[in-house]
Amino acid sequence: MSKILSHLKTITRHKIKVTHLCFRCHLYKQGILHDLSKYSPIELKTGFHYYQGFRSPIDAEKEEKGYSLGWLHHKGRNKHHWEYWLDFGKDGIYACRMPENYVIEMFCDRVAASMIYQGDNYTDRSALDYYIQGRHRILIHKDTDRLIYHLLEYLANHGLDQTVEYIVKHRKTGFHI
Ligand SMILES: [Zn+2]
Repeated sequence: MSKILSHLKTITRHKIKVTHLCFRCHLYKQGILHDLSKYSPIELKTGFHYYQGFRSPIDAEKEEKGYSLGWLHHKGRNKHHWEYWLDFGKDGIYACRMPENYVIEMFCDRVAASMIYQGDNYTDRSALDYYIQGRHRILIHKDTDRLIYHLLEYLANHGLDQTVEYIVKHRKTGFHI
């Protein structure tokens, strides 16, 4: 299959999974809008050109050029990425606190990505393990970190159905963890 079709298939498969998970968590608008910018010309350009199949084309573009315009476009428009919430103030660069609905969308995104990447090896712990691996290297607000960790840990301990139920129950009132 051509790189173009393969890339379109990969991003669409991921998007459908995330949309489905967001709907289960009652995030309808976010589910529909999730990652839509991946279909914009600038992001498609990265995807088509650097498609490899075993890792993100963005990583391949960054390795070659030192930056990825596709990614810079993506993270500037998609609020479920912690990178979106970085700002600059008198003390330098800092992470803003993410609204909880976007943390839930990040949860759906990470779970869907783990399912797709891990395939048969996927377990309820996969997304938590992946988060722990990178946790010390990211610039994320402490409340955001606490909530995403909590949700991923809840998934590891209770499974997806119970976690979705838990999210739906606490989404409007806040998690107060
Ligand atoms: Zn995204």
